[in-house]
Parts: sequence; structure tokens; C-alpha cells
Amino acid sequence: MHDLIIIGAGPAGYAASIYASRYNLKNLIIGKEMGGQLSEAYMIENYPGYISILGRDLMEKFKEQSEYFRAEIMNGEAVKVAKKDNGFLVIDKNGQERAASAIIITAGLSYRKLGIVGEDEFVGKGVSYCFVCDGPFFKNKRVAVLGGANSAAMAADYLAKICRKVYMIFRKEEMTASPIWRERVKNNPKIELINRTNVVEMQGEQLLEKIILDNPHKNSKTLAVDGAFIEIGSVPNIDLAQKLNIKINKAGYIKVDSGQATSIKGVFAAGDITDGSNGLRQVITAASEGAIAAASVYEYLKK
Ligand SMILES: Cc1cc2nc3c(=O)[nH]c(=O)nc-3n(C[C@H](O)[C@H](O)[C@H](O)COP(=O)(O)OP(=O)(O)OC[C@H]3O[C@@H](n4cnc5c(N)ncnc54)[C@H](O)[C@@H]3O)c2cc1C
Repeated sequence: MHDLIIIGAGPAGYAASIYASRYNLKNLIIGKEMGGQLSEAYMIENYPGYISILGRDLMEKFKEQSEYFRAEIMNGEAVKVAKKDNGFLVIDKNGQERAASAIIITAGLSYRKLGIVGEDEFVGKGVSYCFVCDGPFFKNKRVAVLGGANSAAMAADYLAKICRKVYMIFRKEEMTASPIWRERVKNNPKIELINRTNVVEMQGEQLLEKIILDNPHKNSKTLAVDGAFIEIGSVPNIDLAQKLNIKINKAGYIKVDSGQATSIKGVFAAGDITDGSNGLRQVITAASEGAIAAASVYEYLKK
């Protein structure tokens, strides 16, 4: 029996574990994709202590520190959390049950899909949601990045180092990316911006060959590309929370109080999955919420 099971192995989960271990709480991290979203990010330039660090390197450091303080870390997927006696049972994908007195859910976010014809068909055949993982497959090729926010600008900047040509396609007049990223992509001669445009279909034989636009670009609604990187945001992974009847806000995030407690006693939540930190979903806020959640678990178990 653990004092605490942390679901999720991203910044919030690791930070929660580091703090929990230092409160002498026997804790286990169960993570589906180790490192969370950040292992797919490129350069991180806004986490204090590092001017610039690769996302996966930063996550490796978080993990090392959790292990140093003797966290148990396992790769797996929690599919259900059930109340049992004075605690909870976490059931994983293989049907294994693990008991804990308290739970912190740090399950983060997953990619949002476009939901257009051909998208699912060409996943892994030209369509990707992870430019860091798949970018190197498109060396000297033409690719499109769909989206106009920070992650899209970051993807375009990264891909321009590998690919022959990068189109960045977004719906609005102007990108919503922060000024520093806007400048970077605008000044990159390999990146062509296509604004006020939606991609409505993906086409090809075996592999993706072209995307269809709703607004002509250079007189054509067809754009020939070898790859399409979809960067249109994410949705919170709230399946487990919903099964437990935890209160969720209208936007789909877990409601937490200032101590990261959810509406179910003994269940806490931290990181991108919550409505906390004034909606600023970043490594620094995820780590901070993880630390607060662990401190709250300590107080909760003391009682
Ligand atoms: C491309 C990109 C670039 C980014 N750049 C920056 C940046 O420059 N600076 C910055 O501060 N932030 C950046 N972010 C945001 C940052 O990555 C997130 O804010 C942060 O990772 C949130 O941490 P988290 O722990 O809440 O969730 P996540 O990182 O999403 O981690 C969630 C964890 O939960 C696991 N999980 C989900 N469901 C289950 C389940 N059922 N069972 C077990 N495990 C589960 C996941 O596999 C993962 O391990 C970027 C994000 C992306 C995608």
C-alpha cells in the first residue's frame, strides 16, 4: 500500500513526487508517456535555471531528481480509480490493482485533432502530431504546420532546420504565437505563412501527397506537401476524473482549490489538467501545482 499514487509522469507528476518523498510519503508514479508533453517539445527557454534546454533533457533531470529521492516510477496506463475503504485503488491497463491513501492526478493534455477527411488515414504516413519525433523523417521535404500558436511556431522553426520548405497555415489574420516566436518564423526564409486559411482535407495514394485548402493559395486550393504537422492545441485527459465523478469546469479542466484538492476527498490534481494557475499551462506552473498538491496530501494524511 502506498501513501500516494501519482498518475502522470510529466512536470507536475515528477514535482509532486519530489515533494512527497521529502515529506516521507511512500509514493508511486504511473506514467503512460514518460516525461509528458515536454519530451516532445523542442527548446525550453522559459524554465528558470536554464537559458535553453531540450524538453526531453529537462524531463530527464526531473526524473533523475525524483529517483534520487527514491520515488517508484512505472510505465503504465491507469484506466480506473476506485474508492476503497479509507483510500483508493488504481487499476492499470493490465488489470493490476494498486492501493494508496491519496491520489494526485497529473494526466495533462493530449493533442487535439482537426477531424478532417484523410487525417486519420495518413497518421504515420505524412500526418504527425509530434514534430520532434517525426521531423527528421522529412529531411529536405516540403511540410505544412497547421496552427498559429506557440507550439505551431516552434514546430515551423524546428522543421525549417530539416526540411526544404515549411508552410505555416492558420485561420486568423495574424498568428497567436507570442512575439518572440512570431518574429522567428517571419524572419525565416524557409517558412511561408498562409493566413486566413483552413485545411479541409488530406489526400494521397499510400502516403500524404497534398492538402486541400478552403482559401486559394497562389490561385490553387491544393498544396503539395510530404508532411502535415498538426499543432492546434490540446484537450485535457479527464477520463479517469470523469469516472470518479470529480467536478470538471465548462472548458473540461478539473476544478481545484488553492491546495489542489478536487471535489473528491483524498484526490488532488495538478498541472495542465486543472483549472488552476490562472490558466497558464507551462512547466513552471505544472511543477508548482505538483508541489502544492504533495504538500496538501501530507496535511491530508496527517489528519
Ligand atoms: C510542443 C510543446 C512545446 C512546449 N513548450 C513549452 C515551453 O517552452 N515552456 C513551458 O513552460 N511549457 C511548454 N509546453 C507546455 C508544457 O509541456 C506543459 O505545460 C507541461 O508539460 C504540463 O505538465 P503536466 O505534468 O501537467 O502534463 P503533461 O506534460 O501532459 O504530462 C501528463 C502525463 O500524464 C500521463 N498520462 C495521461 N493519462 C494517463 C493515464 N491514464 N495513466 C497514466 N499516465 C497518464 C502522460 O503520459 C504524461 O506522462 C510545451 C508543450 C508542447 C506540447
